[in-house]
Amino acid sequence: MGTELINVTDIFGENVFNDTVMQERLPKKIYKNLKKTIEEGKELDLETADVIAHEMKEWAIEKGATHYTHWFLPLTGVTAEKHDSFISAPLPSGKVLMSFSGKELIKGEPDASSFPSGGLRATFEARGYTAWDCTSPAFVRQDASGAVLCIPTAFCSYTGEALDQKTPLLRSMEAIDKESLRLLRLFGNTTSRKVTPSVGAEQEYFLVDAEKFLQRKDLIYAGRTLFGAMPPKGQELDDHYFGTIRQRIAAFMRDVNIELWKVGVSAKTQHNEVAPAQHELAPIYTKVNIAVDHNQIVMQTLKRVASQHGMKCLLHEKPFAGVNGSGKHNNWSLVTDDGINMLEPGKTPHENTQFLLVLTCILKAVNQYADLLRESAADPGNDHRLGANEAPPAIISVFLGEQLEDVLEQLISTGEATHSLKGGTLQTGVTTLPDLYKDATDRNRTSPFAFTGNKFEFRMVGSRDSIANPNIVLNTIVAEAFAEACDVLEQADDFDKAVHDLIKEYATENQAIVFNGNGYSEEWVKEAERRGLPNIKSMVEAIPAITTEKAVKLFERFNVFTRAELESRAEIQYEAYAKAINIEARTMIDMASKQFVPAFIGYTKTLADTINSVKAAGADASVQMEILNEVSALLKETKEALQILVKLTEEAAGKEEGPEQANFYHSDVVPAMEALRAPIDKLEMIIDKEVWPMPSYGDLIFEV
Ligand code: ADP
Ligand code: MG
Repeated sequence: MGTELINVTDIFGENVFNDTVMQERLPKKIYKNLKKTIEEGKELDLETADVIAHEMKEWAIEKGATHYTHWFLPLTGVTAEKHDSFISAPLPSGKVLMSFSGKELIKGEPDASSFPSGGLRATFEARGYTAWDCTSPAFVRQDASGAVLCIPTAFCSYTGEALDQKTPLLRSMEAIDKESLRLLRLFGNTTSRKVTPSVGAEQEYFLVDAEKFLQRKDLIYAGRTLFGAMPPKGQELDDHYFGTIRQRIAAFMRDVNIELWKVGVSAKTQHNEVAPAQHELAPIYTKVNIAVDHNQIVMQTLKRVASQHGMKCLLHEKPFAGVNGSGKHNNWSLVTDDGINMLEPGKTPHENTQFLLVLTCILKAVNQYADLLRESAADPGNDHRLGANEAPPAIISVFLGEQLEDVLEQLISTGEATHSLKGGTLQTGVTTLPDLYKDATDRNRTSPFAFTGNKFEFRMVGSRDSIANPNIVLNTIVAEAFAEACDVLEQADDFDKAVHDLIKEYATENQAIVFNGNGYSEEWVKEAERRGLPNIKSMVEAIPAITTEKAVKLFERFNVFTRAELESRAEIQYEAYAKAINIEARTMIDMASKQFVPAFIGYTKTLADTINSVKAAGADASVQMEILNEVSALLKETKEALQILVKLTEEAAGKEEGPEQANFYHSDVVPAMEALRAPIDKLEMIIDKEVWPMPSYGDLIFEV
C-alpha cells in the first residue's frame, strides 16, 4: 500500500479521448473537421461523426469499456447517465458485433419526463435530446460496473429549451467570447480569435467513517446531521487547517488523485481544511465548460473512493452545526486562445488601460447584478453558511486589495491616477493612468468576490452545487458590461479620452460594491445596508432574482435563457428547496419518534428505578430527582416540538408546489425543525453516552 510507484505523466489522461488520441487514431481529414467543430463551432457532418464514433468505440473497448453513456447535467444538481452496451442485434450466427454509430455519438434520446423541467414540458411530451458537447472530451470511467465510455452532452427538450446546465453555459461562453473580442479589438488586438473563461474550482468536503455514517439516518437521507451537540473540542485551536494529513486520509487522497489523473482532471492541491475531518482539493484551472464537468467528476470520485476506503464523503454545505461548512471557490478569468489573460494587470500602459476597463466593467456588472450572482449560489444547504455565523455573508461585495482600490480612488477623486500605495513599485502609464503591479495586497478570506492577482474568486458557491450557474451568470453579466462599453467606445472620436472617462464613470458609479474590510463583521452588514447593497439571506428570497425584468432582458439579449427557461428554472428551484426541507423534516420526525423519544423514556425509567432504590435504602435521592425533572421537562419539550413539526410538515406538503410552498417551508417548517433539535441537543449533554442511539459529533469528526 502506498509504496508502489505512480508514474503520473504516464497515467495522466490515459482514459481520455484527448487531442493526442484523436490525432493518432483519426484520419487527418476527420481530425481536422473535428478540430474545426471544437474550435470554431462548425457543424459536424454525419460521415465525420461515424468515423469518430467508430474510433472512439475501438479505443474505449481497448480500455475495457462494454457500454457508452451520454453523460449530462440535468437540473437535479447531479449528473445523469443511461448506459447502452455496444452490442448490436444478434446475427443469424447467434453472435453479436460491437457497434457505435455517429448518430449514437452525437445524439441521444433519453426519456425526459422524469427530469425536472419546471413546467416547460407536460409529462406526456416526454421527448428530450442529448447532444454531444465535443468541446469537453469523452473519457472512460472505470468502476465496479467495469468501464463505461462517458460522452459529455447537453440536454434539451423536444422544442429546444435547455433542460440542463450545459446548454446555457455554452451559450454564455459564446456571449462572453464575442464581447471580449470586441473589447480586445478596440485596444488594437488583431490576433486573438477566441476568448474563453478559465475556471479553477476548489472543492471542500468532509470525510466520516462509513460505519458511523450508516448509524445516522440524517446523514443517509439529508446528507447533513439534523441533531448533535458540539463536542468538547471544535475547531477553536486551528490545529486542523493545513495540519499533517492522517494516514487513512492520505491513502484516500492518493487514490482520488490517481483516479482523477486517469480521466484527465489535473488534481493539484490538497490539504486539511479548517474544521476537523474537512479537506480540500483543487485542480488546475481549465476552460469553464470542462471545469464544470471536471468538478462533477471530482465530486463523484471523492464519493466513490471514500466508499472504497470505508468512509463516506459529505459534500453538504453544512454537515455539522457549529462547525465550519464547505464551499467551493470558483476562480474565474478570461483567457484568449493565444494565452492573454484579460484580468492580468500587465506591464505596459496600453494594457493597463485595457485592464482598468475590464476591471471596472466587472465592478459594474457585479454591482448591477449582485442579486443574480447571489442567486447562482443559492442552495438549501448554503442557507446555513451564507449570512449565518460563518462567511461569506449573503451580501455581494468585491475585494480589490488596497492597491487597486487606491488606484480607483485616485481616478474617482482627481480624475487621474498617478501613483501607487506600494511606494515606487508602480510606474505611471499613459499620462493619466498608472502601471499596475500584480496584486501586492494581503488576502481577504471574508470577501465573496475577491480579486486575487489575475482572477476573481467567487467564494459563495456551495460545496455540493454545480459551478455551472455561477459561471453562466458571470459570463453573461460581464458580456453585457463589455458590450455596453464597446457601444460607447466604438463611436468615440478620441478613444483615449473616451476610455479614460468611461473607466472613471464606472469606477465612480460602482464604488458601493467595493469593500476591503472584514466581510464577517456586524458593522459590514450595517454599512452594506447604508450603501443599498442587497442582503439576500435565504434561497427562497434569492430565487425571484432570475425572473425580474432586468434578468430576463439580460439573458434574452445574449440568448442564454429565454423567459420561459428562466421561469421554469425558478420553479425548479422552489421545488428543490421544498423537497429538501421536506426530507429533512421527515427525517427528524422519524429519528425523534423512533430513536430519541424511546431512548429518553428508557433513560427516565432507569432513573426513576434508581431513585426508588436509593430511597428504599433510606438515602437522599434529591440529585437524581433533579436530573429526572430536567430530563422529563426536555422530553416534554421534545414531544411538543415533534407534534408541531408533524403538523406543519403535513400542512406544507399539502400546499401547491411553487413559491408559496417553498416560503412556507422556510418560514414555518425550518423554525419548527430548530425547535425540535434544541431539547434533543440539550439532552445529549445530560444523558449517558451508552444509551445515546447514534454516534455523536465527536465520534464522527474526531474519529475518522
Ligand atoms: P487558494 O490559495 O486561494 O486556496 P488554490 O491554489 O487552492 O488557491 O486554488 C486556486 C485555484 O485557482 C486553482 O484551481 C487554480 O488553478 C485557479 N487559478 C489560478 N489562476 C487562475 C486563473 N488565471 N483563472 C482561473 N483560475 C485560476
Ligand atoms: Mg485553496
